[in-house]
Amino acid sequence: MIDPKEFYEPGMILHGHKCPAMPLGLRVGAAAMNKLGVERARDGQLIALVEIGEHHCATCFADGIQMVTGCTLGKGNIRKLHYGKWGLTLVEKKSGRAVRVCPKAEAMLANKQSPFFTEYRQKGIPASEVPDDVVAPMVERVMNAPAEQILTVGEIFNYAWEEPPHSFDGFVCEMCGEMVVEPYGRLLGDKKVCIPCRNKATGQEDGIPRT
Ligand SMILES: [Zn+2]
Ligand SMILES: [Zn+2]
Repeated sequence: MIDPKEFYEPGMILHGHKCPAMPLGLRVGAAAMNKLGVERARDGQLIALVEIGEHHCATCFADGIQMVTGCTLGKGNIRKLHYGKWGLTLVEKKSGRAVRVCPKAEAMLANKQSPFFTEYRQKGIPASEVPDDVVAPMVERVMNAPAEQILTVGEIFNYAWEEPPHSFDGFVCEMCGEMVVEPYGRLLGDKKVCIPCRNKATGQEDGIPRT
């Protein structure tokens, strides 16, 4: 059994500030792992599909998921589904067994209606500047509430996961001289170049996209 409390301290180091969403991610991730009966992913054994999107509250949730499941940006086994929700589907790659765990709406609403959000976060105050006596009780609650009170754990289902093979090939960009992974190479006239060099040559000033 995975105990989310063991991952709280390292989770804080990864995440950087005290908030209720990172611990909620620890709880959701651990519940999914315990339902599937799996260990933390040392390599790519697990895939985490997280329903959060961009630019909204409580996306900190995903850092708790990364910490406890071992599904990380670096290993490439975590994806955002961009639904603007907080469900997690955790897949065990070799068996194709999967489970979806979602925080209950009541638990999310209780957090949203707290002074942490109404008095601080919604007024633009960063989480690291919220007084500890405001946020600490919320973290306590999230970490200690019975799972059935804050989470909905689905039944195990089959999820066929197809993954393209890893690319180990690379080349040196003929314009900037930097290393590039093979499938990301682009042709510019008779030169083989990287995407930023191609973009720069075709009009985008520094080749770095802006949102
Ligand atoms: Zn946070
Ligand atoms: Zn280049």
